[in-house]
Amino acid sequence: MKITEIRLGTLSIPLKKPFKTALRTTDTVSTNIVEIRTDEGVCGYGEAPPTAAITGDTDGSIRCSISTRMAPVLAGRDVSELCDALLALDRCVVGNSSGKAAVDIALHDLWGKLHGAPLYKLLGGAYREFATDYTISLNAPDEMARDSIEAVKEGYEALKIKVGNDFRLDMERVKAVRDAVGVDVLLRIDANQGWKPKEAIRVIRFMEDDGLDIELVEQPVVYHDIEGLKRVTDSVDTDILADESVYSPRDAMKLLSLRAADMINIKLMKSGGIGGALKICAMAEAAGVECMIGAMMESKVSVTAAAHLAMARRCITKYDLDPPILCASDPVKGGAQYKGAVLTLSDAPGLGIDSIEGVKWDS
Ligand code: MG
Repeated sequence: MKITEIRLGTLSIPLKKPFKTALRTTDTVSTNIVEIRTDEGVCGYGEAPPTAAITGDTDGSIRCSISTRMAPVLAGRDVSELCDALLALDRCVVGNSSGKAAVDIALHDLWGKLHGAPLYKLLGGAYREFATDYTISLNAPDEMARDSIEAVKEGYEALKIKVGNDFRLDMERVKAVRDAVGVDVLLRIDANQGWKPKEAIRVIRFMEDDGLDIELVEQPVVYHDIEGLKRVTDSVDTDILADESVYSPRDAMKLLSLRAADMINIKLMKSGGIGGALKICAMAEAAGVECMIGAMMESKVSVTAAAHLAMARRCITKYDLDPPILCASDPVKGGAQYKGAVLTLSDAPGLGIDSIEGVKWDS
């Protein structure tokens, strides 16, 4: 099965309500869809949303890097030689992790279809269902408390609370949410780089002293301040999860060797796809570190790929794959299915995606 063409398209899905973090606000999932075609008529799907404020990747850089750098090195390659294809993909351009992720995901989809098996099985995984957490956008404390009560009523047992634009107000936000939902709901905090190290230590110690029972705090400080991240990790009892500080396997190696955080949030758009994510998983397992599987504001194409990875690696113990739930509609037929918070996969080959409606393909 040989690669003949890489086709690009765009897909836009409105959100049920605006998604707000310390870094940005958005009301749609806007993403680039990749279709890799083969000489046997079988196609593989991937995607990459532009998240310039996080990854630096824009629609323009994603599309240009795929069409001018990635497509030429993959044309004519045999899908069965996945390792070589992934190496060529990694080396054809520096950075551009989102575009690489889209192509890597489509290659893994094809690889699964070639072998007639779901991707998680080919990666050595066993089927297991898991529940995603649900993200509460950054707003005023009372609005966040109301949103949290609503999410709990809908059946979500783990909430990810977005904070990070004002450390004093953040303490009020977390307290308001805990008071609103009671003691039985699992609370995670994501500061999206919004605090200085000393502010982070102050907020987290406040939450500890106040008995707010926070499971973990994600990316408290700016992504490049690994020293500051380590200072926070060493200064508090609450687990610290690195997100924006870990993109590539090399970032993970540095963070793990320094023990700068307690856990790593793996996102395919940061790792350049499943290939890079597997390397991070291997290092995390060797270091005895647990990982979260997360996503940007993505459609169900790449979230399904993340779910396959999560089923295939035991170091992934926390699940933050709620973007499809936040969307007002689901144009991706097949792939991951949600029953409330619980995510399931079918045994269809590859990613198991049947079709994607509403894609505007390049002519
Ligand atoms: Mg995060």
